[in-house]
Amino acid sequence: MILEGRFWHPQRGLTDGCVAIGDDGTIKRVAKTISGAKERVRGMLLPAGLDMHVHFRDPGFPHKEDWASGSTAAACGGITAVVDMPNTQPPTDSPAAFADKARRAATASVVDFGLGVSARPGISRETWFDELPAAFWKLYPYGISWEDYQSTATEVTAAGGHPLVIHGEHPSHIAPGPPRELAEHTAHRQLAEAECLAGMPASPQLHVAHLSTADGLAGLPVGATAEVCPHHLLLNLDACDSLECKVDPPLRTPRDNAALWSGFRDGRIAVLASDHAPHLPEEKASGAPPSGIPGVETMLPLMLQQVVTGNLELGRLVNAMAEAPADRLGLSRGRIARGQPADLIEVDTKATRPVVLERLHSRAGWTPYEGWDAIFPQRVWRRGELVAADGEPQASRGGQPLFTAQP
Ligand SMILES: [Zn+2]
Repeated sequence: MILEGRFWHPQRGLTDGCVAIGDDGTIKRVAKTISGAKERVRGMLLPAGLDMHVHFRDPGFPHKEDWASGSTAAACGGITAVVDMPNTQPPTDSPAAFADKARRAATASVVDFGLGVSARPGISRETWFDELPAAFWKLYPYGISWEDYQSTATEVTAAGGHPLVIHGEHPSHIAPGPPRELAEHTAHRQLAEAECLAGMPASPQLHVAHLSTADGLAGLPVGATAEVCPHHLLLNLDACDSLECKVDPPLRTPRDNAALWSGFRDGRIAVLASDHAPHLPEEKASGAPPSGIPGVETMLPLMLQQVVTGNLELGRLVNAMAEAPADRLGLSRGRIARGQPADLIEVDTKATRPVVLERLHSRAGWTPYEGWDAIFPQRVWRRGELVAADGEPQASRGGQPLFTAQP
């Protein structure tokens, strides 16, 4: 297949030319002209997204999401690869649990996938620590003392190998009971991020998930990388005061939004990630709602709209959604260049349409972005195969692991 038109060149930016895709699903050639039958690109061709932070709930909670529904939502939103977090049931914290989840993903996922593995004290002494093909280790602040949280972060970053992704909120600020209102949830955790990050090792092995505060950004440990989620850029306590919007870390203030936008625009926060965390509407409407906002399908459409309104440069978005997460995870992908997987999205910047819940594919069944302007990709290719068109799936299954064990 040869696609012809405007595309994002990793060095030159938007360029007119041709992209040839081989039968093996990789990009064979990128050139001004390539002979052969061509298909015209409407709008522009961008690298598809790699979302390094999703919760697909499988195994354990398939009524909230499973690999089929979550990966379909991802594909329709222009994401062709995800990394799933380990807080499933059972948690992904051993080679057996890892193999079980990898098998489920290989059977049902339409997008390529990696798996995060739970970190705990002493994990670097496990015989499998160096061999497990994890995307990264993930450290949570729940049910752990600050001493153990801190020593685990030091231990795992010092051991080398996979990155350590932290949920950077100090364990002592995690309130035990359900909040009565959303502002209370935020108030409990006012200082949680900055206090946690102040005690983290200065290490290039460290990656801070879902950065949410101005103070957290100012206090990022030296050498560490960070990600930001659309809800911490676009939402705050003024914009969303329903308990449905309970999320960890919580929604903050417009001042925090502004600081995060600034850090995102200038690349101090390199990575965009969704923290897609689906729960059912009845769970979110209960007196004790679980934390989490779904977003894997709306992330790129909402951010492409931010590009159109002039709030974000296209090159920064391409970097944040494709290049930077790939680089962070040591993957050779995310660029329209020879030898890279042909993971591409076709985007027409004139095709703004509102987010409509009925047209989304997550089992979550709700979104805080109903009616927001967005630009959904017209076509999405995963390794050269069309997996979504006009927001609807065109394929099922076929996802492959991003990381494999060394032979
Ligand atoms: Zn998460």
